[in-house]
Amino acid sequence: MPTQPILDLHTHSNRSDGLDTPAYLMTRAKQLGLDLISLADHDTTDGWKEGLDTAVELELGFVPAIEISTHSEVQSEQGSRRISVHILAYRPDQNHPGLVAELSKTRESRVSRAKRMVELISKDYPINWQEITENIRPGSTVGRPAIADALVRAGVVKDRSAAFESILHKSSPYYISEHSLNTLEAIQLALDAGAAPVIAHPLIDFPAGKSLSDLPDAHFREMVDAGLMGLEVDHRQVPENARSWLRDFAKRHDLFITGSSDYHGIGGKVNELGENSTTVENFRRLIAQSSGSDYYLPPALDWL
Ligand code: AMP
Ligand code: FE
Ligand code: FE
Ligand code: ZN
Repeated sequence: MPTQPILDLHTHSNRSDGLDTPAYLMTRAKQLGLDLISLADHDTTDGWKEGLDTAVELELGFVPAIEISTHSEVQSEQGSRRISVHILAYRPDQNHPGLVAELSKTRESRVSRAKRMVELISKDYPINWQEITENIRPGSTVGRPAIADALVRAGVVKDRSAAFESILHKSSPYYISEHSLNTLEAIQLALDAGAAPVIAHPLIDFPAGKSLSDLPDAHFREMVDAGLMGLEVDHRQVPENARSWLRDFAKRHDLFITGSSDYHGIGGKVNELGENSTTVENFRRLIAQSSGSDYYLPPALDWL
């Protein structure tokens, strides 16, 4: 077997909140020596064609995916709490009617939610919706990063991260959550569309000092019962103290694990292409368990 290839299974383009076009993203990945990219824009498949065409031209591996915004209710000692869960769906059928309808509903609601946030913020800071729409690609999935970029242009904050730590933070008075599918329904929908559902950056909000016994084991088991197939353990925002628990959980429930960058472009997020990779064994499982759309392997990866 050739040396371990770099398989980066989670990246974003300007079809959602990334900064690179799908074509430029593939070009950069090739230049950096990566072997395979999965394009997983938020709630859209719009960048797949351009990504795949460029990947084929460059002989870079390509797996189509989406990152679906979902929410769950989890029980804790403080009672029931709504959390946001991102589900990566690998190789869904992009024409599946139920999936098409749900994604378009989520994208539309993201627009009205972003508009409402901008209205609130504009009472205190010099940004406006018109200027934001002029600066994003028409039709792209809108998220808080688009508002962050406006705050940077207005000189209110120095970069996206500073905006997320203050005005756009979940605890900020300007924060509004978007409509999204229930997590279990999203897993079911991904399966119906022939995709392999994986939790993106699990436990991203798990506090560093918290005991592992507080981990939401029951919530994870519910997702497995619904058909969850994998966990994205190797991701820079997955807390170190939770990783061994996640690996152990994956083993017990026969889930595969992935590693990815969640790259959003230079300046989009610090995450750099190829900073994490998925192992060959886990990649093979992901491919064997999904069938809704085609993927591409260049001749150099035909052994994979
Ligand atoms: P939203 O989906 O609109 O709630 O916005 C969340 C998105 O913002 C995530 O999917 C990330 O891609 C992005 N994001 C979160 N935190 C940061 C950060 N500190 N810097 C840049 N982008 C971020
Ligand atoms: Fe994002
Ligand atoms: Fe995410
Ligand atoms: Zn992402």
